[in-house]
Amino acid sequence: MIRVGSGLDVHAFGPGDHVMLGGVRIDHVAGVLAHSDGDVLLHALCDALLGAAGLGDIGQHFPDSDPRWRGAPSSGFVEATVAMLAGRGWRVVNADLTLLAEAPRVGAHRAAICARVAALLQLPPDAVNLKATTTERLGFVGRGEGLAAQATVLIERAP
Ligand code: MG
Repeated sequence: MIRVGSGLDVHAFGPGDHVMLGGVRIDHVAGVLAHSDGDVLLHALCDALLGAAGLGDIGQHFPDSDPRWRGAPSSGFVEATVAMLAGRGWRVVNADLTLLAEAPRVGAHRAAICARVAALLQLPPDAVNLKATTTERLGFVGRGEGLAAQATVLIERAP
């Protein structure tokens, strides 16, 4: 049996000098406002995984009202989610991620991000794809107020 899931996440820029994207630290003129480390790619990925398995969303499993997750690395959310799926017999087949941002540009970090996400999902690097786009200066992303990410995953389980 196979199932597909999708995820979407947004964070506003705030004080700071870097952003976390796909578990990789990228220097930037701003940080993001978030309870955890605010990694939009990994948050969208978690929601895609949970959605595929019919397990709700990231807010149910890792609520931002819980002090345990203050400043928490989002890689831990992905690892816990993968373990949750594995406990139900699901394994990930592939993940396709899209970052929407005017900046930072991730071209130079693409391979590192794919490798990191693949490791978190226990997949070979070519099973993870990262796309990036601006929004042609339109909307909150275009105005540089924040960044957004979308994720699609396929999961499978032996019948
Ligand atoms: Mg988030």
